[in-house]
Amino acid sequence: MRTGIITTDTYLNHDTGQGHPERADRVTVIIEHLKKLKSKNLIWKKPTKFDLKYLQLAHDRNYLNDVKNSFPKQGLNFLDGDTILSPGSKEATKDAVGSIITAIDGVMKKDFRNAFCAVRPPGHHAEKQKAMGFCVYNNVAVGAYYLIEKYNLSKVAIIDFDVHHGNGTQDIFYDNEKVLYISTHQYPYYPGSGAENEKGKFKNIFNIPLPAGTTSEEYLNAYEFVLKKIKEFKPEFILFSAGFDAHKDDPLAQFQLKSKDFYDLTKRTLELSKVYCDGKVVSILEGGYDLSALQESTEMHVKALIEFN
Ligand SMILES: [Zn+2]
Repeated sequence: MRTGIITTDTYLNHDTGQGHPERADRVTVIIEHLKKLKSKNLIWKKPTKFDLKYLQLAHDRNYLNDVKNSFPKQGLNFLDGDTILSPGSKEATKDAVGSIITAIDGVMKKDFRNAFCAVRPPGHHAEKQKAMGFCVYNNVAVGAYYLIEKYNLSKVAIIDFDVHHGNGTQDIFYDNEKVLYISTHQYPYYPGSGAENEKGKFKNIFNIPLPAGTTSEEYLNAYEFVLKKIKEFKPEFILFSAGFDAHKDDPLAQFQLKSKDFYDLTKRTLELSKVYCDGKVVSILEGGYDLSALQESTEMHVKALIEFN
C-alpha cells in the first residue's frame, strides 16, 4: 500500500494579507518538494465534498453562521487580530476540512495505508465558537468526529506536535472520552493554555508543556510520554496535528528541533500504531513558518509514513 497526499490548489486563494506568516508559499513549497521525490509510494488525491453536518459536530451553529457571513466579497475581513478571511477563504477552509475526510476515507477503504494533508489554513487553535491563531475550522477535530460518527469508532487519538498548544482541539474534546488529545508545546507561550493540570473531564487530555530552548534530545525524551499514553489508550485510529514550528529555524517559537526529529517521532508513533490500529494514521498540516525548514521537516515526516507501507 501507499501513502496518500491530499491537497488541492484552493489554498492559494486564502489571502491573509502582506507579511502574514501563514501564507500560501508554505503549502506550495511542501507540494513542490514532495512532487520532486517522484515517489511511486505516494498517491495524490484532492479533497472531496463532504456533508456539512460534520462541521456542526466540532463547532457551534452560531459560530458557523458567523463565519459563513464573514467571507468578504472583496478585500480582507479579520476574525481576530491574526485570523483573516479573503474571498477565496470560503473554498480553502472547506477544502482543508475536506482533505482530512478524504484521507480518513482512503485509509478506511485501504486505498492507501496512511496519509498526509498538505493544506491551509491550519485548525488546532479554532475552538467550538471562536476563530483564533490563523485557524477558522478545526480540521483535525472534524476528522476525529467523522471517525466517531461515520465509522463508529470510540477511541481516536490526536497527537499534536505543533510548537503551540492546540487550545481549540482541547476545547472541543474537553468532555469527550472517545478522544484522547495529547499535545507537546512551548509553555508558557501562545495561546496561553496547555498546562499540565488541564486534563479534561475524563482525563482524556494530556498536556506536555516544555520550556523555550527545548532541544532534540529533551523533546524526544518527552515524546516517550506521548507513546506511553497511546499504549494506555489503545486507539483505533491516530490523527496527527502536524505543525513543524518546533524546528530550530522557525521564527514563531523557540524550540531547537532538527528536521530529522520529525522522522523519528513519526516512526516511533507508527510502530506503535501497528500494534493498536493496524497503522491507521492520518496527519494534517498545522503550523511551520520557515519555508526551508518546513520543506525538509515535512519530507522527513512523509518519509516515515512511506517507509511504514
Ligand atoms: Zn504553531
